[in-house]
Amino acid sequence: MARNRVGIYGGTFDPVHNGHINVARGIIDAFGFDELLFVPAFVPPHKREQMISAGFHRFAMLVIATESEPEMRVSTIELELPSKPYTVETLTRLQANDPQSQLFFVMGADSFAEITSWREYERLLMSYSIVVAVRPQNSGHWSVDTGQGQESAIAEDEGDPGLHLPSHLRERIVDLRGARCPSRGELDEQHIFLTDYVLSDVAATRIRELIRSGCDASALLPRGVDDYAIKYGIYDLRA
Ligand code: ATP
Repeated sequence: MARNRVGIYGGTFDPVHNGHINVARGIIDAFGFDELLFVPAFVPPHKREQMISAGFHRFAMLVIATESEPEMRVSTIELELPSKPYTVETLTRLQANDPQSQLFFVMGADSFAEITSWREYERLLMSYSIVVAVRPQNSGHWSVDTGQGQESAIAEDEGDPGLHLPSHLRERIVDLRGARCPSRGELDEQHIFLTDYVLSDVAATRIRELIRSGCDASALLPRGVDDYAIKYGIYDLRA
């Protein structure tokens, strides 16, 4: 019997935005995931006070954002811990809880660019399938009308996203850019998949700034998340 394919999408999600949801949808469809689990990260209390919202708020916004997405669920696995786990530890626990499923760890190109600084990154890349959401070269562009003039940003040229990896890991890369879907054979083995299904160059940092300055960020957020953030004043005070 075919194994269930489960996507694991880790991050701070402060707040979850359309970039995350659109990427998740594109990857669920292309990879035929049975489930995609958002895993909001534990953030230590001292860091939280400075800039990152409480886990329960980030969790609540994810639940609102995924309400009508049948394959998407939100995990509390990191939020319930007393300290921040390394990603490889979280994946090990998720796999132990669900040994029959094939886990695919989903990350953005910016996280992938820093992966060599992650704890046991080689074990992470060797033990699980990885899906990287890469922005198409030279075309990463978003714009939003804030009501105070047009704001826009050009994303960096991602170049060769695997250049920083040692050769034995580079060999695992399957480049699906150009909106190519993985073949059955590619899916059944562990690879590092580079994808560019969705161009959605939204960042939570920008959304926090917009909400804090009283601008309408609703076009960048899943339905209900903007109202929740405003209602609870989540981004009112912190820099
Ligand atoms: P911040 O601006 O606060 O750094 P963020 O928008 O990058 O936040 P995170 O919670 O840090 O959001 O992101 C979780 C994961 O989603 C990371 O792997 C990140 O690279 C990826 N990601 C975030 N935004 C996008 C996007 N627009 N397209 C593709 N991947 C994204």
